[in-house]
Parts: sequence; C-alpha cells; structure tokens
Amino acid sequence: MLPVQLIRKKRDGGTLEDAEIRGFIAGVTDGSIPDYQVAAMLMAVFFKGLADGELATWADAMTRSGDVIDLSRIARAKVDKHSTGGVGDKISIPLAPAVAACGVAVPMVSGRGLGHTGGTLDKLESIPGFRIDLPVDQFAAQVDELGVCLIGQTARIAPADKRLYALRDVTATVESLPMIASSIMSKKLAEGIDGLVIDCKVGRGAFMKTIERARELCALMRAIGQRAGKRITCVLTDMNAPIGRTIGNALEIRESIEILRGGGPRDSRELTHVLGGEMLVLGGVAKDAADGRAQIERALGDGRALEVFRKVVAAQGGDPRVCDSPGSVLPKARTREELALRTGRVMAIDSEALGIAALILGAGRRTTHDTIDPAAGLVVDAYLGEVIAPGAPPQVILCHNLAPGDSRLAEARAMIDGAFVIQPIDHPHSEPPASRILEVIP
Ligand code: URA
Repeated sequence: MLPVQLIRKKRDGGTLEDAEIRGFIAGVTDGSIPDYQVAAMLMAVFFKGLADGELATWADAMTRSGDVIDLSRIARAKVDKHSTGGVGDKISIPLAPAVAACGVAVPMVSGRGLGHTGGTLDKLESIPGFRIDLPVDQFAAQVDELGVCLIGQTARIAPADKRLYALRDVTATVESLPMIASSIMSKKLAEGIDGLVIDCKVGRGAFMKTIERARELCALMRAIGQRAGKRITCVLTDMNAPIGRTIGNALEIRESIEILRGGGPRDSRELTHVLGGEMLVLGGVAKDAADGRAQIERALGDGRALEVFRKVVAAQGGDPRVCDSPGSVLPKARTREELALRTGRVMAIDSEALGIAALILGAGRRTTHDTIDPAAGLVVDAYLGEVIAPGAPPQVILCHNLAPGDSRLAEARAMIDGAFVIQPIDHPHSEPPASRILEVIP
C-alpha cells in the first residue's frame, strides 16, 4: 500500500497489518516517506491509537530500524533500568555499579537532558575525561569485563525513533501513549537486555501527571517488552519533589558518590535500593524484592559498588580520583549564593520550577544545541512537610558562573521562590508520604 492509503486506513480506525507497519517504519528510517506523510500518520495514531498487535509490531520495527546489540556471549543476566525522567534523578549512576557488584550485568544506553529534567550522560561528562561515545564492541567488552558500561545513544540505535520523535515534537503528538511506549522500548530493546525495570515517574515534575496515566503507559511498555521475550517490572515513583538534594550535573555526581559510599539523602538511597532490588530479581540473583534490596544495601555499604564505579570511570577515560575526593576533581562554580526560604511548613515543592531554575543557571539545555555548565545547579535542603524555623541555615544554594548582574540570576531566584508553598506551622496539613515508591507492578 502507498503511505497515503496507510494513513487513510489508520485515520478511519482500521488495523494495520504487520507488513504495512514494517513498510511504513522502513520508509521513516530510509527517508523515502516525506515528513508530511509521517506527521499525518502520527496524528492518525494519536487519535485512533494502536491495537496490542499493531503496537508490538510498531515497536519491533523501530527496534530493528538500526543495530540490535548482541550481548549473548555474556553469561550473566543483563538487566537495565529506564526512568521516564525526573528532576535531580541521578539514580542510574549509583544503581548500575551496585547491581553489577551483585552479579547482574547492566548495559546502559542513556540520554541527554532536555528541558527541566537532566540526563545521565551530561552528569557523567562532568567527570573530567569521561567518555560516553564508546563503539559498540568496546561497550560489549566492558559489560562483559566490569558488568556495566554507560554510553550515549548512537545514530545506529533505533534511528526510526530519532525521526519520529523530532516530528512528534513539532506536531503536538508527543503525548500519545503508544508513541511514548514504543519510543522508549525500541531504544531499550536494542541494548541486548534480558530484563528491564521501568521507573515511571508520576506527579507535577513528571511526564505522567496522574497515577492512572502512568499505569496505562506501564501496561503498554510491559506488553511490548513481554512480546519481545523480556522480563519487565514497573515501579511507579513520586515526582512531586526533586530527588535527593542536588540538581545539576557535577553536584549530582557528588551525591551519587555519597550514595555509592552507603550514604546520601534518604530518598535517593531508597530509590537505589528498591530499583536495584527489582533488577536483581529480574536477573535471577535475588529470591524476592526484599532480598534484592538487602543485597544492594550491602554492596553500597561495603564499598563493592564504589569499586565497580571506580573501574568504570577509569575504563571510560575519566579521573577515578573522583571516587575519593569528588570536591577536588569535579568542576566547581565560582559563585555559591545562599537563599533562605520563608519560615513555616513546606507544603509543596514544584520540582519542574526548580529544574527550570537550574537550567537557567546553566545546568540544562533549552534546545539540543545549547551547551551546559557542568558546575551549575542547585543544592536544595528542604523536604516536603519540613518546618523551617526562624534563623535556620539557608535551604537553597545557587551554584553558577554567571556575572553578578546577569538577568538570568533574578529569573532563577524568582523561579525558586515560586517553587515552594510555605504555610504557617499551624496550617492544617497531612503528613507527606514516607516513601517515594507508589506501586511496584511485577
Ligand atoms: N522518552 C522517550 O525516549 N520517548 C518519548 O516519547 C518520551 C520520553
């Protein structure tokens, strides 16, 4: 069928045949179908959706539009984690070495930050010398030897997604759940994994604003993964406050190293333990989630996870002394400006606003072509439900290299100020949740 016939069929609510979908995705990949027809199909899918069988074929065709990394020679189970994106989400960095230290291999292909959420690659690149552009054979060799390698997406991984995502971005079709599910899963399935833990963020700072929509997205991603023969666990986690205490690349590496030393903020630690525990279950080395979690805690507490990270940093060209003395290795901002919040009880924190404030200071990009300042960002020492007493030490530190009169500073300060809802201590309130874990869907 011609592309126009396929578009009409989907527009009218028809079900596309396997060969039709594969032909369409092949045309997306080789460029033979023009942008306007791809965009029209995206809008048809946005309104009519994809049936289960269509979605599985669509995702599989996207996965096979490029290279599927072959890690079959590695005997250990290979399990990755994907996060749908959060502010201050540095969890992959302590998690991957901790899981590897417990005997499960982690082949991790990560993305860059865009908008208010950061990317693992940008964080890793704040370690002087760290390379994320390793060739696939070196990636596979390192996964085999050290149990973990962290690289960036290559042009050969799911190239159909690159074109589809760029068109979705400019045609108001990003929010289609089957398109989000196939975009994420095609890239993950190309990594050569046996299993995947999906950390689906829910809340104000996340793509998925409600738990119902997050469950729907997870169901689609699970279906795609299971049809491809992979083991999938979804963990729904709260994104109504930033994760941990730092937002910004080098700052988040410092926090990651604290976690790798068995410390770090309570919520970052909990996410690392829970997600890691689930990865160990999928990898077959833990009998259940509690056992997996305990193994991860031990690997973080006794230095094994840090030793794996040290080897990974060295193998990928970075300065391994970052593990012992992050303050002297990582780039530091010239200015650290303290900001005290109003006194009272912290009732809400807009993590998206804090992510944008960090971006304005230089920690993120507005467009893919922007450069970032690895030293820029925020240290936020205020938790939901916490009481800020008169005379308490300042809760927010702005780290930046901007000139004193730069208009971006006032913009960032205003975003930070507006990000906190603070009420008098006697204002009626409910206790904030003790855990960020909302639901585990095995
Ligand atoms: N992340 C992706 O990789 N793709 C989407 O469509 C949304 C988030």
